[in-house]
Amino acid sequence: MQRHGYQAYLVGGCVRDLLADIEPKDFDVATDATPEQVKRAFRSCRLIGRRFRLAHIHFGRDYIEVATFRGSGNGDDRTELTKEGRLLADNVYGSIDEDAVRRDFTVNALYLDPQRGQILDYVSGYRDVRARTLRLIGDPEARYREDPVRLLRAVRFAAKLDFTIEPRCAELIATLGTLLKNIPPARLFEEALKLFLSGHARRSFDLLQEYGLFRALFADTAAVLDGESGAASLEMLRAGMANTDERIASGKPVTPAFMFATLLWPAMRRHQQQLEAQGHTVADAIHMAAEWAVFRQVARISIPRRFSTPMREIWQLQPRFENRHGKRVGRLMSHPRFRAAYDFLLLRVLEDESLEP
Ligand code: ATP
Ligand code: MG
Repeated sequence: MQRHGYQAYLVGGCVRDLLADIEPKDFDVATDATPEQVKRAFRSCRLIGRRFRLAHIHFGRDYIEVATFRGSGNGDDRTELTKEGRLLADNVYGSIDEDAVRRDFTVNALYLDPQRGQILDYVSGYRDVRARTLRLIGDPEARYREDPVRLLRAVRFAAKLDFTIEPRCAELIATLGTLLKNIPPARLFEEALKLFLSGHARRSFDLLQEYGLFRALFADTAAVLDGESGAASLEMLRAGMANTDERIASGKPVTPAFMFATLLWPAMRRHQQQLEAQGHTVADAIHMAAEWAVFRQVARISIPRRFSTPMREIWQLQPRFENRHGKRVGRLMSHPRFRAAYDFLLLRVLEDESLEP
């Protein structure tokens, strides 16, 4: 990029992670070139995104995301806000210092020029990395309102980096949690994957609970956890999160299906029990309760069918572990979801002592 005469910096998570001694998972670049100019400079470049236009420069199977400096657009009619203060479009180009201040946290707004070996810092992000503090740039309430996903990002980065959320930014989280209802469920699904499948699920889960955000994401499960027999379910969920983190740490595969099966289990299970009490068979009750739980959940976090289908299979196989004799055992063990369902059964022991072998 620099050879083509443009400004170009590594920016955001990769700079923050390098300074915090964490291996960055990807590298993002910020530039004064427009996406079209980037495309002209690199043959392997693809332009993506509508709401937020970006250039991807491909290298084999990998790519580097290149974003043009964005302007703050403050007092400018080209940036639109909803009545709750949510930012709708963000495609006004600007200078690097404007680009810095429209980022979320100060630690995410550092620019590294690897050629000069220089870091540009417009928002005291360097100081905050040193102090291990997450601080929103500007007025925290306005910044959360502009994009309430930042509430989840605060928690996610606190969990991942083991940083402390600046007190005012922390205090606002509980009161603004309801704003998440305005976020498209598909975006919350993406965010949920980052919270629960990035190797820091246990800490993220605990912090979501601590900051009162878990309820905003998983209302039906939260209701069970807060109820009288909630302690056992809480233990099961925590163990599920810790297991996932261990699997990721040792390079084993993890799936959103298993994660959502765990997160929605308390809600599904309670409903299943109510249906059984009304006289439905176990299999019917699970089927109906799964339907109910998924229907309610996807209004907040969309779960693509390729994950909700195996999730339901994991649930539906649970009562079949009670038959431990005869032909059915062989059939159960050859089910494609047997392994996941068995791992899930092991987790359930923490919730239900009667399952103890
Ligand atoms: P990681 O990739 O490790 O999860 P990251 O900081 O790279 O962390 P991304 O979601 O990849 O997070 O975003 C890259 C950068 O874009 C961020 O560092 C931040 O500067 C900016 N950014 C991302 N999302 C937002 C947002 N919702 N509001 C403001 N700035 C954002
Ligand atoms: Mg990133």
